[in-house]
Amino acid sequence: MRLLVTGGCGFIGSNFIRQQLQTYDDVSIVNLDLLTYAGNLENLRDVEDNPRYEFVRGDICDRECVNKILESQPVDAVINFAAESHVDRSILDSGPFIQTNIVGTQILLDASRAANVERYLQVSTDEVYGSLGPTGLFTEETPLAPSSPYSASKTAADLLVNAYHHSFGFPAIITRCSNNYGPYQFPEKLIPLFISNAAADLKLPVYGTGTNVRDWIHVEDHCRGIDAALRRGSIGEVYNFGGGNERTNLEITHGILKLLNKPESLIHYVTDRPGHDLRYAIDSSKAERELQWQPQVNFEQGLQDTINWYLSQAEWTAHIKSGEYQTYYEEQYGKR
Ligand code: NAD
Repeated sequence: MRLLVTGGCGFIGSNFIRQQLQTYDDVSIVNLDLLTYAGNLENLRDVEDNPRYEFVRGDICDRECVNKILESQPVDAVINFAAESHVDRSILDSGPFIQTNIVGTQILLDASRAANVERYLQVSTDEVYGSLGPTGLFTEETPLAPSSPYSASKTAADLLVNAYHHSFGFPAIITRCSNNYGPYQFPEKLIPLFISNAAADLKLPVYGTGTNVRDWIHVEDHCRGIDAALRRGSIGEVYNFGGGNERTNLEITHGILKLLNKPESLIHYVTDRPGHDLRYAIDSSKAERELQWQPQVNFEQGLQDTINWYLSQAEWTAHIKSGEYQTYYEEQYGKR
């Protein structure tokens, strides 16, 4: 099976590529990634010499580039991870989100359709459903009600994917997952940011009162879900994946401080994110039933392993946290 993976140098895409190459001997992968601030070749250093892996630097919005890849060799399936993925950045400037997440998806859909790929999998998010109150779970039937420019752009992409399926019989599947954590996550996101700040005795900027709830899933469980949807999912269907680990941001913060043996005085409450969704929680029963998928990683163990990974990768983190990231961080939270 030959796969075109887009955005494979980011957090989830790089974990997915590694897992595919390790799990299957008959999978070969072309990774198309623009290497934005979030894309990092170091995330796949260990597979770059694998003869079944090929990297192409390019933009999913570049029609010529995408067509060329799909025309040069037959591709069985396309998995679209490429996206602008950080809510806070979408609030500062939504332009790149509209371009990559919506226009890029449209270009990829057109090119995949022209190339007659057997399957197209759109990696989406539970954020398309908006916010839950204190109770209830998102199912695949929950109405789409995104609240941030990021989630609105992901919703628009999902609607396009659906429309290509309905209008053209295009063989698409959408997966919607809750918040991921694990190795290789860019340290602007909550868990790696707090691990690396706490390890360096820097403040942990907690939004509002820290009571927002997310359902955390280990990235390897998410990647196994994408694999299951790709191989066993039905065309035209949506599958939700969640870890079943609802935690408030404050619970995550306390957990990281405790595991690192750092004082609570590092907690620093900052002005809440505008339009901050209160709670996300996922009903994964459709994926469990139809894909025989279940999350396997225990959250406490996964968090400990993730902390160990970041502590052992100080150079990776330091490298990533220099340059453009520094400017963004100061704009978002002020000087450390
Ligand atoms: P990420 O920001 O770590 O990686 C995104 C990757 O896409 C980077 O390698 C970047 O260089 C690449 N990219 C960006 N624009 C591109 C373009 N125009 N052309 C080609 N490549 C481009 O993101 P992530 O956290 O790995 O998320 C991957 C996907 O999963 C996204 O679609 C995201 O919406 C979705 N998702 C993420 C989460 C999460 O918790 N991180 C949860 C559910 C769904």
